[in-house]
Amino acid sequence: MTKQKLIIYWSRRDFRLLDNPALYNAVEKAKEEKVLFLPIYILDNALLGGNEGNIGYPRRFYLSKILSKFINKFDCFSVLAGTPNDIFRELSKHYDIYIYVNHDVESYSRKRDQEIADLIGSDKFFASKDQLTVPKDTISGSGSLYTVFSPFRNTVLQGFLKSVTFQKPQLNDIKYAQNISFDNYDITSLDLELKNIDKSQQLIFNLINKQWQVRFGKDQTISLDAIWNRPDYSNWYSSEDEAIAQFEDFVRNKILNYKENRDSLALDLQGNGQTSKMSLALKWGLISSRTIKEIVLRQHGGLEKEGVFSYISEIIWREFYKYILYNNPSVLDLEFQKRFQNNEIKWVDDKTALYRFEKWIKGETGYEVVDAAMHQIANTGWMHNRSRMIVASVLTKNLGVDWRWGQDYFRAVLLDLDEASNNGGWQWAASVGADPKPIRIFNPYLQQENYDNNKEYIRFWLPKNYNIHEPIVDHKQAREEALKRYGLGSKK
Ligand SMILES: Cc1cc2nc3c(=O)[nH]c(=O)nc-3n(C[C@H](O)[C@H](O)[C@H](O)COP(=O)(O)OP(=O)(O)OC[C@H]3O[C@@H](n4cnc5c(N)ncnc54)[C@H](O)[C@@H]3O)c2cc1C
Repeated sequence: MTKQKLIIYWSRRDFRLLDNPALYNAVEKAKEEKVLFLPIYILDNALLGGNEGNIGYPRRFYLSKILSKFINKFDCFSVLAGTPNDIFRELSKHYDIYIYVNHDVESYSRKRDQEIADLIGSDKFFASKDQLTVPKDTISGSGSLYTVFSPFRNTVLQGFLKSVTFQKPQLNDIKYAQNISFDNYDITSLDLELKNIDKSQQLIFNLINKQWQVRFGKDQTISLDAIWNRPDYSNWYSSEDEAIAQFEDFVRNKILNYKENRDSLALDLQGNGQTSKMSLALKWGLISSRTIKEIVLRQHGGLEKEGVFSYISEIIWREFYKYILYNNPSVLDLEFQKRFQNNEIKWVDDKTALYRFEKWIKGETGYEVVDAAMHQIANTGWMHNRSRMIVASVLTKNLGVDWRWGQDYFRAVLLDLDEASNNGGWQWAASVGADPKPIRIFNPYLQQENYDNNKEYIRFWLPKNYNIHEPIVDHKQAREEALKRYGLGSKK
């Protein structure tokens, strides 16, 4: 018997209707051929199943929230728990399946997609450009890949500005595959009404709710449940419509002053801050970078105004780090700069590092601006970019702790965790990454003076019972030690 044709839109981190190439193409194809359509999300065992990774409580909780809202936009949507390989193998026993996805740059995603394409046939697996929108193999005039940001930006900017977006697909006259049931994998067949957002969020969250901990170093763990209360992140947008509304407000009211205001920690407390806070929306695909660009250009015409140019430049930074990760998958574990790849930097010994790392996590370093920022991240799942740079510099330079530990902690606490940007940020702060600058050691006191002169940020985030004390390492002495660690003697 010939199998019925089934067009699948497999959603991963693209919880939106607007400018969603995979969804648009899948819907169009299903309508054109008048065949069955099935949108699905897989709660992937390899990512969410065990406690072993650093997908901590924050991302699990947020995923359950945004996914439950997204599935509500469809008349029928399957949420499955298992491994993609098992699920598609099972499905292809009964149907002739065609899968549409948006491409990602992370190694796990690339390998997973390759396996599925091999399983069903690469002519039935359609991947659209999405997370990285500029050409992933962009090369410089000398024929090599870019390693420095500005020339990369200059090369890709025009193409990015011209990129086109996909409209929302018309879902009304689609023929959903209604009665498909998957033994072992199907959570939608459980006796709960998935159209009820609160219930479906609870259902999804219960399935993936694990301990909140950070895994780092040589298989070490610290329980974060023992340190922090679990926030509910209710101040954050959690759907495409809410994210777009927030962004339009930023573009109307704040983007023109973005260049002057983006670094100010004090200003971040007024209203919802002076930066766009789009990192969550971009990470989870509630909005695409192309839509961001379109909204900006619609409001301001071009990039002539400083704030607008500066903002779009940051969006290209995001592309740059994705390009770096795509072309250098080893950076998640290894320094980008070859000269540091053989353990050239002698981090402090493990016992000292563990003590300092815990103090840093808890916001007890004694550097007030650092401690305030560590409370911000734990309580909101987000941290201001200036603070991310300060805390990362202090962990790696002042405290002498391996940047990979910091990368792991951010993985466990950030809602906007993006492997490429997180890695790029940590490698930059540790002076081992792409776009190399001279080895720079932030002075936390000067940073606080420059960006939170009246201590508004500090007062806002430090808990009432914060114990003001001398820092656990003296900045001047730590600076000398850091310079030696990087093989620079005691130069000033
Ligand atoms: C150590 C460290 C870790 C970081 N980890 C992440 C992460 O996991 N996820 C993440 O999205 N960003 C990360 N960043 C980059 C940056 O801090 C955040 O993107 C930014 O703070 C998000 O706030 P926003 O959306 O208001 O930014 P805005 O200032 O409004 O910028 C708009 C967008 O541009 C992009 N962007 C801005 N700055 C950067 C940057 N330095 N690098 C890459 N993209 C940028 C982001 O997508 C951001 O949403 C990290 C930076 C550092 C120093």
